[in-house]
Amino acid sequence: MLLQAFSHPLAIVVPLVIWGMLVAFVLSVFLALEDGLKRLRRLHQIPCHRCQYYTGSPYLKCPVHPVEALSEEAVDCTDYAYAAATHGFDQGHWFKRARQRLSRVAHPLGRSGNGPC
Ligand code: SF4
Repeated sequence: MLLQAFSHPLAIVVPLVIWGMLVAFVLSVFLALEDGLKRLRRLHQIPCHRCQYYTGSPYLKCPVHPVEALSEEAVDCTDYAYAAATHGFDQGHWFKRARQRLSRVAHPLGRSGNGPC
């Protein structure tokens, strides 16, 4: 009975093709994920947000390298100079304000304790 089921060549070829396509699909998903992670790691190496020459303006991001700023070409920028809290980008301040905004959204009338929540 089993031999009869595999007697036709298509009974062997079709499952092989389907498994091959499935393996190729899973492999391509893994390769795409790996490529995306590699690219994300590379983009996280862009130092402009921590640089004292970064203006934060969409019109002129950096007066030293206006074209390369915030791009992959800025990863190895030789003019990079660390600045913790210049140009309005102080991470601590930014997180504090974001937390305040979020709490205002979550509790628009404040926490009175009289509401249902
Ligand atoms: S000097 Fe270099 S690292 Fe600094 S903002 Fe300009 S491009 Fe980015």
